[in-house]
Amino acid sequence: MLSKSKFIGGWQCEKRAYLTANDPKLATPPDAATRARFAAGTRFGELARTSWPNGILISSPAFRHDDAVHKTKKLLKDPNIEVIFEAGFTALDTRVRADVMIRKSGCDTWDLVEVKSSTSPKLVHDMDLAIQRVVLEASGVNIESTKLMLIDTTYVRSNGGLDLAELFKIIDRTAEVSILMPDISPLVDRLHEVVDSGTEPTVPIGPHCAEPYGCDFFAYCTSDRPENWVMYVPGFGLSRVQKLEATGVVATDQISSDEHLNELQKRAIESSKSGDIWISEDISTTIANIAFPLRFIDFEAASPVVPLYASTRPYERIPFQWSCHTLHDDGRLEHAEYLAEGDDDPRVEFTETLLSEIEGPGSVLVYSPYEATTLKMIGERFEDLQTLVDPVFSRFVDLMGLVKSNYYHRDLKGSFSIKDVLPVMVPGFDYSDLAIQEGETAASRFVDLVEGRVEAGDTGQLRSNLLAYCERDTEAMVKIWQHLELLAQKIQA
Ligand code: SF4
Repeated sequence: MLSKSKFIGGWQCEKRAYLTANDPKLATPPDAATRARFAAGTRFGELARTSWPNGILISSPAFRHDDAVHKTKKLLKDPNIEVIFEAGFTALDTRVRADVMIRKSGCDTWDLVEVKSSTSPKLVHDMDLAIQRVVLEASGVNIESTKLMLIDTTYVRSNGGLDLAELFKIIDRTAEVSILMPDISPLVDRLHEVVDSGTEPTVPIGPHCAEPYGCDFFAYCTSDRPENWVMYVPGFGLSRVQKLEATGVVATDQISSDEHLNELQKRAIESSKSGDIWISEDISTTIANIAFPLRFIDFEAASPVVPLYASTRPYERIPFQWSCHTLHDDGRLEHAEYLAEGDDDPRVEFTETLLSEIEGPGSVLVYSPYEATTLKMIGERFEDLQTLVDPVFSRFVDLMGLVKSNYYHRDLKGSFSIKDVLPVMVPGFDYSDLAIQEGETAASRFVDLVEGRVEAGDTGQLRSNLLAYCERDTEAMVKIWQHLELLAQKIQA
């Protein structure tokens, strides 16, 4: 039996369909951020449903699909029912649940609406509608149109609260879905064949492992790759790796001298072969040119699909927290931090408190362009802050850029993200003791706080967890800096 998600997974990759059906335990379990995304998706669906106050929800869980089908049949027969949510159908040995079905007035024909938190239609959305339409029609339901309910990014929340009619936009995809329809039944048959074959299909990894959705079986499918896998060369994406592996090049020592490589890639390959750490000859000069005191800053921000505050748009970035460690040239280390209460748009207070903390001489160290783009967005949005924010950029130093151009260790496996650099440069210093261990979870927990999903008694603990996470980020930056300083001293000695 296929489900809609297995069908979409199988359209992406036949091996994925096989593994999902036969060996789901081989999938990497969802992490905290993925679980938070699922929960946000469920809430989003619930919000969308409130656009049809007369809708009837079939609440049977996925594992009671037959119950959903039974209830759906009854509702379809009742001419008084105008809108059904989560209607269940089984046909062609495939189960689907339809987000929204809207009866055409006075007849037995329906519009099918799929709810997505995207801002524009994608092929995968049309495939989603197409498999539903095929199964619904095979179940005897007349479908007049297939539509997507998406997010309208031009919507601006007013002081009066949310206006769902403005937040959502419904676009007709009947023509696009019709084009896909002839391919659906043959694909359903093919996927049944694959899933029931008893043999795991051989599929090379490639861009399909990440598009349209990241595949949970990636760790399983690549578990036999060597320590010096070509995927660990910085900038080698899945497409390039697929091409190399197709010619038998799996390890970096198999890469031909004709392969076009930039300097970073050459040194990564060299380091992966020799096991030696690469350190730039210029590291001492580079480090010496960075002016003290050093302000290590990090932001946390949320980009909620449903705007939290008046005058904000869907997915608009709302920075709500910063941490700053200041390292003086005599070795003194100070820490300051800010975490919004959440009741009001925090962007002005966020920026003013930050600027006050980092004002004066010295460098402002960031780890990625994220902090600069966030401040630029604030400057553009709040005219009064623009002149205050602009001068700060000349003091910015990208710590990740410093690492990238001065250091390589094969254990980085091609990644310069702070979570990958830290265990290599500072073994034992990590995030494992924290309740919140990455930014996406921090953002979703802040949104929970603002939207009232945190019990009053738990608010203090959550705020402490958020503060601890952001503080760890800037503490990690200090440790990375100190490691670079140590390397610079060694080079000089
Ligand atoms: S990781 Fe790639 S090859 Fe493996 S099952 Fe997923 S999509 Fe298919």
